[in-house]
Amino acid sequence: MTRRPPWSAARSAALLPLLAVAGCAGTMDGAGAGRAPAPVEAAQENPIPKSLLWLHGSGEAALLARRTFSDMADYVVAAERRRAGGAAVESAVMAPSATLDAPRWTECGSKPAAVIFDVDETAILNTGANYDAATHGDPPFDAARWARWEEGGADLVEPMPGLASALATMRAAGVTVVFNSNREARFAAQAAAAIRGAGLGEAVHGETLFLRGDIAPGSGKDPRRAAIAARYCVLAMAGDQMGDFADAYNDRALSVAARRQRVATAPAGERIGRGWFLLANPAYGPWDRGGLDDLFPADRRWPRPVAPGTPAP
Ligand SMILES: [Mg+2]
Repeated sequence: MTRRPPWSAARSAALLPLLAVAGCAGTMDGAGAGRAPAPVEAAQENPIPKSLLWLHGSGEAALLARRTFSDMADYVVAAERRRAGGAAVESAVMAPSATLDAPRWTECGSKPAAVIFDVDETAILNTGANYDAATHGDPPFDAARWARWEEGGADLVEPMPGLASALATMRAAGVTVVFNSNREARFAAQAAAAIRGAGLGEAVHGETLFLRGDIAPGSGKDPRRAAIAARYCVLAMAGDQMGDFADAYNDRALSVAARRQRVATAPAGERIGRGWFLLANPAYGPWDRGGLDDLFPADRRWPRPVAPGTPAP
């Protein structure tokens, strides 16, 4: 007998009242024949986290991704065309001494063109790992679990909607596609296999694939971005976290509310849609440690009235 995950049991329980209403409960195995129908109850809440429902189930997510990648390809092809016509083009990688409040961009010169992509929930959807999360209560990040996923899940991913065709357009324009990910360097072969298997082409470690531990230790992506920008004119970057564009967005000293304000208003963010292309990811990010005080101002909290006829709590 196949062992069913907790999700399956919860889902079945959620559906039972509906089946009873439809008169099916007594006919599925005959055991209910002659019994009174079960009372009508509201179906239980869908046990799948809304974040994963949106990411994997919504056409809205798919359409936004397609539009983002299409806009990116248009932007990159136009920039490369301007360069071919002799115009100076700025790198999408912030200059080393620049800040989010005073961003600066170096000229590309005649370096070959490239674009930089984050991998997880930017180039690929981690469908297998997200299924595991959906069926185990959406647990907090666990580095050991994630390492097992990196090592063994390469064939259980999907490409982000619309990305394959956008990459083909950019590659046809002579632009090199580089991936910069915080997947671990020791699993470089598996990362490349996931990208290849998703139909996104070849990624060569140290050339077009940079991972945690490459160039410098730690999860900061700036050193890897600088190494890529030293060789290429980086026309655009894509990511699902602002840290995919500049490490300065990952200031852990900021509260979630303060970081939201900073991300939304710092001048560097004006590059979103203009060299920085941001994917929506409601499943995880530097904001997911927020508490009620980060999200809901004290003067905007609704003290829901007790419904008429309901005993006071
Ligand atoms: Mg990502």
